[in-house]
Amino acid sequence: MKAVSVQTSSKEYPVLIGEKIIHELPLFLHNEFPQLTKLMIITDENIGKLYLQDLLEVLSDFESSHIIVPNGENAKTFEVYHECLTFALKQQLDRKSLILAFGGGAVGDLSGFVAATYMRGIPFIQIPTTILAHDSAVGGKVAINHELGKNMVGAFYQPEAVFYDLEYLHTLPEREKRSGFAEVIKHALIHDLSFYEELKEKVKTIEDIQARLIQPFLARGIEIKANIVGEDEKETGKRAFLNFGHTLGHAVEAEMGYGGWSHGEAIIVGMRYAIQLSKKYNKFAFNDEEFTNWLITLGYETEIPAEIPAEKLLLRMKQDKKTIGSSITFVLLEAIGNPMMMKIDDEALMMELERFVK
Ligand code: NAD
Ligand code: ZN
Repeated sequence: MKAVSVQTSSKEYPVLIGEKIIHELPLFLHNEFPQLTKLMIITDENIGKLYLQDLLEVLSDFESSHIIVPNGENAKTFEVYHECLTFALKQQLDRKSLILAFGGGAVGDLSGFVAATYMRGIPFIQIPTTILAHDSAVGGKVAINHELGKNMVGAFYQPEAVFYDLEYLHTLPEREKRSGFAEVIKHALIHDLSFYEELKEKVKTIEDIQARLIQPFLARGIEIKANIVGEDEKETGKRAFLNFGHTLGHAVEAEMGYGGWSHGEAIIVGMRYAIQLSKKYNKFAFNDEEFTNWLITLGYETEIPAEIPAEKLLLRMKQDKKTIGSSITFVLLEAIGNPMMMKIDDEALMMELERFVK
């Protein structure tokens, strides 16, 4: 087992990573929440079928209830949020109760937002079940979607702990593995050259993205995120580096329609784009061909489908960054592990974009 501590100005909490670590949860609850009244588990249909019974057995000492929400982004709606609040009220959860977010990033974001707002905030614990959630479960950004924009209604609200049991990853579909691994690559690129080199060396095919092999990489990614969030919880500075690849990534995700490309698939193209801009405008020395070949071997798309016009993507990027002028501030790299912010004007952005559409 590996433990990472997240220290923000408002809270310090542990992230426990390892196989079967879910069995440590009862003791943690007894020790940290001696006054605990009730537990409410929020999970989705897939995880509900696969693992809810096991979790209930682990928690048999406690009074618990559970609600099953739709899979994926369909969990992050106002309707589902409302259902969760109604359920919590009917179960008479109080401020000594605790919410358990049991699932991927979607369940985590929804449950965290329920916890942040129910009775002005009750504690919650993240039990992530995807690779992507090594990113989303740490750092305290919680949100639901509005029809005019993803994650538009939310809060900064830190969990009490993260129990990242890697056993759950065994059933994760290939596509979800790829999606989550993209964020691991991001953490390496913005923080650590040797980490990046090691990833390339050890993870050669999609089959390599399995629990045991990538455990140290997930822990490393979490450490990197924890450090950044510890320094800048509310994203007034450094935390923005975590958006590397996300400006174009979000635009592609939205243009493809959510569900068309996964978050990670979209940010892979976003990172390639940010790398090109970095090479051109920031003297970034990088072997792009080798990177792209690695991505292709792992099964990623590396170009934007031809049916998506570059103009639309530029417009989306401006909306995403809430930019009015004729440039966008991008996270670029000076070197691997050395990110910085730079304004790039629309003309230059368009020129590079056109090279990325198939
Ligand atoms: P997800 O929660 O939608 O899960 C993806 C799919 O995999 C779902 O169908 C789910 O049921 C299934 N699944 C989950 N775990 C499984 C398992 N162990 N075995 C089999 N199937 C499993 O997706 P995600 O990729 O984990 O998260 C994406 C969400 O995270 C997005 O909504 C995104 O906005 C959010 N996010 C938040 C942050 C943050 O800082 N809060 C950061 C990045 C992403
Ligand atoms: Zn992301």
